[in-house]
Amino acid sequence: AEPLAAKRTARIFCIANQKGGVGKTTTAVNLAAALVAQEQRVLLVDLDPQGNATMGSGIDKRELQATLYQVLIGEAGIAEAAKASESGYDVLPSNRELAGAEIDLVELEERERQLKHAIAAVADRYDFVLIDCPPTLSLLTLNGLAAAHGVIIPMQCEYFALEGLSDLVNTIKRVHANLNPDLRVIGLLRVMFDPRVTLQQQVSAQLESHFGDKVFKSIIPRNVRLAEAPSYGLPGVVFDPASKGAQAYVAFGAEMIERMKTL
Ligand code: ADP
Ligand code: MG
Repeated sequence: AEPLAAKRTARIFCIANQKGGVGKTTTAVNLAAALVAQEQRVLLVDLDPQGNATMGSGIDKRELQATLYQVLIGEAGIAEAAKASESGYDVLPSNRELAGAEIDLVELEERERQLKHAIAAVADRYDFVLIDCPPTLSLLTLNGLAAAHGVIIPMQCEYFALEGLSDLVNTIKRVHANLNPDLRVIGLLRVMFDPRVTLQQQVSAQLESHFGDKVFKSIIPRNVRLAEAPSYGLPGVVFDPASKGAQAYVAFGAEMIERMKTL
């Protein structure tokens, strides 16, 4: 972890996929907790008005003074709006109010860069900023992509997975060209994996041959403990550290830290 400590400025990643229910939020909260377990300082930004990352981190989205919404419209800084989670990372929380930001942002100059500027003000406090994106290509998601160094793409190894992927990769290319020359795909993360399903093995092998080392070595299995944890307001990594799912996310955290050294 020396190069990170020496630089002491956050690496910023979006967890994105234009499909819903593919494991973005599960990956965001568990990677946050896995990085904390490896002595990293982490801020998790909940960019989805559904507030699942907020609730899944044990922060009640109905009882918030300031949220990401106030940050995006310039009424609060991240330092004021962020909350410490029980799991050791900070959360910039969100709730339904965030959906209104789409409209309010249109009025602002540099409307795609509000999040980037807000993160810049706290970047020296964190090693990692993880942004849990909504399943849309909205102005919110553009704010995430404009702020990030890279994108982590969780995906299920299903028949249509590759199709959805080309849309996302095209979007990332456009953002790279127009908004954020730093942006790149960091890697594809296979999630909810069931090795007993032949099709999943085939798609997984296809991903490796197509995308080579853009595919993370860590594979997240389908594991019920990961699905149960959010109702306790905890990431699976904290809720049941011995579970297969938790161990896979801890391994993924280590892989991310390793990969940072080559970026
Ligand atoms: P997204 O944020 O992309 O919409 P979620 O992370 O909310 O997706 O996951 C969708 C659903 O799948 C949730 O109910 C979640 O608990 C469950 N889930 C995610 N990953 C796993 C996994 N590895 N094993 C079992 N259930 C999972
Ligand atoms: Mg989600």
